[in-house]
Formats: sequence, structure tokens, C-alpha cells
Amino acid sequence: MTTGVAIIGGGASGSLTALAMAGVPGLGPLTLVDTGGAFARGVAYSTEDPVHLLNVPADRMSAFADQPSHLLAWLAARGESADPEAFLLRRQYGAYLGELLHATGDRVRRIVARVDALAPEGPGLRLTLAGGEALEARAAVLALGNFAPELPPGWSELPRRLAWRSPWGTAGDWPAPDAEVLLLGAGLTAVDVVLSLDARGHRGRLHLLSRRGLLPATHPPRMLPPLQLGARPRGLRALVRLFREASAREDPRAVLDTLRPELAAMWRGLSPVEQRRFLRHLRTWFDTIRHRLAPAVGARIAALEAEGRLVRHAGQLVSATEQGGRLALRIRPRGSRALAVLTVDLAIPTTGPVMDVRALEDPLVRSLLASGQARPGPHGLGFATSDQGAVLGPLHDRLWTLGGLRRGDLWETTAIPEIRVQARALAGTIAAALGTRPA
Ligand SMILES: Cc1cc2nc3c(=O)[nH]c(=O)nc-3n(C[C@H](O)[C@H](O)[C@H](O)COP(=O)(O)OP(=O)(O)OC[C@H]3O[C@@H](n4cnc5c(N)ncnc54)[C@H](O)[C@@H]3O)c2cc1C
Repeated sequence: MTTGVAIIGGGASGSLTALAMAGVPGLGPLTLVDTGGAFARGVAYSTEDPVHLLNVPADRMSAFADQPSHLLAWLAARGESADPEAFLLRRQYGAYLGELLHATGDRVRRIVARVDALAPEGPGLRLTLAGGEALEARAAVLALGNFAPELPPGWSELPRRLAWRSPWGTAGDWPAPDAEVLLLGAGLTAVDVVLSLDARGHRGRLHLLSRRGLLPATHPPRMLPPLQLGARPRGLRALVRLFREASAREDPRAVLDTLRPELAAMWRGLSPVEQRRFLRHLRTWFDTIRHRLAPAVGARIAALEAEGRLVRHAGQLVSATEQGGRLALRIRPRGSRALAVLTVDLAIPTTGPVMDVRALEDPLVRSLLASGQARPGPHGLGFATSDQGAVLGPLHDRLWTLGGLRRGDLWETTAIPEIRVQARALAGTIAAALGTRPA
């Protein structure tokens, strides 16, 4: 098999890249390869659960940055409500991206397969698929997205009915309605699982365990207008002071929203030591304000807490063992030396996607790192990339990436408002690169 550009990963990032490339001449045939075949939808928009909402308002979720009303027009054309500030169902958004991808017809060939390795072949690349088949391409884009959460040590030896291996259970897995369940992690993935259990009529107590016991903030009912924040200082300390002082006068969510378009530049302006300090001391706090819940979701979570059906714990899991058919979890509460024991019927890992590529078991990531074709980005977050998204290393003229794999270089790179811009830019960059090379 041969192609012009192979896009590895068919989730939202890969599909937005294919959409952007479909209209650009000079790229040759386009092939989108995805392990599970969840084309366009990927991890975030595959859910069929009607309680899973977008966490970004509709007017910021258009597939095309230069057509901000595109999604709203799509909704209106289907006779659906097109409130720019609405938080749509994630499955609705998956249908939107799916329809756009479908409309590219034969221009984008889709293959359900896992790419396990790639290597230079003449001026292009040879991709090895899991079954041993090969795909030759002039260039490739890595759009590998969200990797499953890391499991605590010894977790895989526990029976599956007591300890799920991933946050996304299948229909047969759901616990009995009165089961007591612990979720490891208290971010957006944990909230997804709480909502799914709640919608299924779950009555048993749900526990959320995270180091600080913080939940994501909730979006205000209407978007807050941007603020006048004055000149942006340089350096982490000064930026934190700016944020603190502004947040004493204004809603911290509005402060962050005002700074959001500049976050990548701010991150790049920090020294490696400052970036490390941010990751160690400020990241959790930043994430709770940055990654928010839709208002309806925030209200439901608050109600569950008020009823005592959802309980938050701040601390660290020390061990998990089977005990009398249940799971005994030893926890070190935050700020305490003594251990506490919590016994539950099921524990679910919801710590969010792994971002350090050095910790991943993924065959393609491992082979790229082992062969030196890619190297870890700053702090191991994704790959080291050029300003244009080329994967730095021997394949920099034919291998590019976007989205989560650029986290170390850009930090703010995993949501649609950033991904759609990167996808469009890559289409132009790769067309220009291939234009100077013999086919
Ligand atoms: C639960 C959740 C909710 C979110 N909600 C929002 C939201 O409301 N708004 C927003 O802007 N952002 C949201 N995000 C952020 C989200 O990451 C992006 O919007 C976007 O979905 C990322 O898409 P992706 O294609 O990069 O990743 P993914 O969806 O993870 O897709 C990557 C795809 O690559 C495939 N793949 C990986 N390795 C290989 C390989 N070796 N060979 C072949 N295929 C491979 C995987 O099977 C997968 O299908 C959410 C994220 C999550 C996890």
C-alpha cells in the first residue's frame, strides 16, 4: 500500500488534519489509520452517554478557526438549538466531526489498524502495521492523542471485577447499584464516570481520591468578558503574582480565559527550572481552573456531594488488596503520616491520560524513542518538536505531530481551539515540504 500522507490516529486531531489537508493540492492521497476505528470521534467524542457534555461552549468548537460559526450553522441546518454558549453533548460533536470526515469521500482513505513502527524508506517512510502489513507514505503525521491512565503498581493482578483497567467500562461491567466505588483521580475523567453511574441509577457511595481532593471548577452560566490585565511580565513568579492580584479583583476563571490565547507563549517563555516548578507545585491548581465542568455538570456533582453520595478524599493510594471479596485500599491522607483503610466493591482508575512518553507502553511511541527517530519533549511531555510541529530527529523533514504530543513544547495544545489551528498549519507546512521533494 502507498499513500501521500499517512495520518496516524483517527481521533479529532487526525481527522481535523485530514479535513485541513483534503482541500490542499500537492499532498497526494491521504490515509487515516486508527487502531480502534473510532474515526473523528476518538476518545473524547465516542461516548454515547447523554450525560457527557463538552466542556467548551459551542461557539469555540467549530472545526475551522477561520469559520467560527461553522458548528452553529451545522446545528441550525439540522433544526437543533444553536446557542453559542451551550455545552453540547459530546456524541453530538462526534457526529459533527464524523459528518465532515465522511464528506471528504475518497479523498481520505481510512484503515483500521495499529501502526507499530515507522522507518525511512527512500525520501519517504515505511509504516509497519500490527499485522505485519506495510504502508508507504511520503510523509506522516502522528495524531496519537490521549493515552490510557497509568495503573498503580500491582493493579493488573487484582480481579477485574474489583479493579477496572481503564475508566471506560463496557455495558457488562457496571457495578451493582448499591456498590461502593472509589475513583482514583478527581478530574474530568472521574466526573465522566460519576455521571455515567449516576445516570444508571447508582445508589452506592462514590469516593473520589486525589492528592489534593480538588474538583474542576465549573463554567459560569454565561461566558465572562475578557479583562484588561495590563502588561504581561516575564518569569513564573511575576506571572503568578499577576494572576493572584487579578484574581483578588476579578473571577479567576475570567483571568485565565483572558490569558488562555497567550498560555503557549508564556510556557515557552519560562526557563526549564520554572516549567518544572510549575508542574510540581502549580499544575493541579491550574488544571482545576483551566479544565472546567459545564454548568449543568457542576450542579449535578455539587448536588451529589451535598447528599453525601459523593465523597472526596485528599491523599495518596498506598496499596490495594483483595479482602473477603472486596477491595481494601490503604490511603495516606494528605498531611498525615498514619494510614487510613477504605474498603470498596470496585475501584476505577480515572487519573487522566498519561502524558510522559517515557512511561508509555505504546509500541509506536516506544519504537520511535528506542530508534532515536523521536526524542522526549521538555519534561518528557510528548515529543520534542519544531515550531511547525516537525518531530525533531532524523525524520524532521517527513514526520510531524500535533495535539497532546506537543505538550512539552506548548503546554496548551490538547483542546479543539488549539488543535484546529495546528491542523490547518500542518496542511500548509507539509504541502510546502513535499512540493520541494520528488514524488
Ligand atoms: C473525556 C474527554 C473530554 C474532552 N472534552 C473536550 C471538550 O469538550 N472540548 C475540547 O476542546 N477538548 C476536549 N477534550 C480534549 C481532547 O483531547 C481533544 O478535544 C481531542 O479529542 C483530542 O483528540 P486526539 O485525536 O488528539 O486524541 P484521541 O481522541 O485520543 O485520538 C487518538 C486516536 O489515535 C489512535 N491511535 C493511537 N495510537 C495509534 C497507533 N499507533 N496506530 C493507529 N492509531 C493510533 C487511537 O486509537 C485514537 O483513536 C476532551 C478530552 C477527553 C479525554
